Amino acid sequence: RRRSLSARVSGPGRTADGHPVKLLVNLGALQELPAAAAADSEGVGLFRTEFLYLDRDQAPTVEEQTAAYREVFAAFTGRRVVVRTLDAGADKPLPFATAADEQNPALGVRGLRTARRDPQLLETQLTAIAAAAQDGEAEVWVMAPMVSVPGEAAAFAERAKAHGLRTAGAMVEVPAAALRAGDVAQQCDFLSIGTNDLAQYAFAADRTLGSLAEFLDPWQPALLELVRTAAEAGAGQGRPVGVCGEAAADPLLALVLVGLGVTSLSAAPGCLGDVRASLASHGLDDCRRLAGLALAAPDAAAAREAVRNAAA
Ligand code: PEP
Ligand code: MG
Repeated sequence: RRRSLSARVSGPGRTADGHPVKLLVNLGALQELPAAAAADSEGVGLFRTEFLYLDRDQAPTVEEQTAAYREVFAAFTGRRVVVRTLDAGADKPLPFATAADEQNPALGVRGLRTARRDPQLLETQLTAIAAAAQDGEAEVWVMAPMVSVPGEAAAFAERAKAHGLRTAGAMVEVPAAALRAGDVAQQCDFLSIGTNDLAQYAFAADRTLGSLAEFLDPWQPALLELVRTAAEAGAGQGRPVGVCGEAAADPLLALVLVGLGVTSLSAAPGCLGDVRASLASHGLDDCRRLAGLALAAPDAAAAREAVRNAAA
């Protein structure tokens, strides 16, 4: 049934009663660009830029970065591209940006924190993004990974704006940022929830350990509670709040996320059709009711089961 729905529904994401939900793609390498650009989406919700920095002993130059960003922006002319600045550290170590001797790299100098140690790393990247944005017609947004406190969002937005980049946001992937999302949102233009890291940090469970998968299940009610907190706080500040972690790829969970107040979903291009079809067959009130069922469940399996039964 889903297959036939997904074949029929196209264009911007909407619930059955017309509530808009932006559907965007995740992009993590230039090889993925043709498929990402060809997908029926309103743009890129998470452009992971780490690939530019891997397998090197120093950071790519402004020119190298500008060329790569230009290629991406050209493929998304007239659409949005949310560029996530370098997220080095933890599961993405880089010899020139992260320390090899940290005892707990996931809790160490990673994400935006690397810019504190080496401000030039971020400056060079923002310079390249701004230059490429000028050359193209994409709607370029930038966002910072691993923001923990509002001051980091403010500092990032200040640097982005100094480079002429008008829309700057913060990822919500640290529980502290979710709990204080209103204060974070006040300091920038949008929030984007990274459910992979948010689950890792909320459950104190290493995201790379398959043996801890049950804690990392995006249906965990505690994770959904953090999503609701962030989405409501963002709405209170008039800011869009998206989800760009793997949770956004699940058509059933997408209904719950929208019911919790999430305004955009970003996932692998191949997942969007089913997510779009799922939204198109449920109204916003339905989504809110399903979100309530998931939040009321005692664990992830019960949440999934309750929503699956009620959504059918
Ligand atoms: C996340 O943490 O959910 C996220 C989208 O970022 P990454 O998976 O690149 O850490
Ligand atoms: Mg992350």
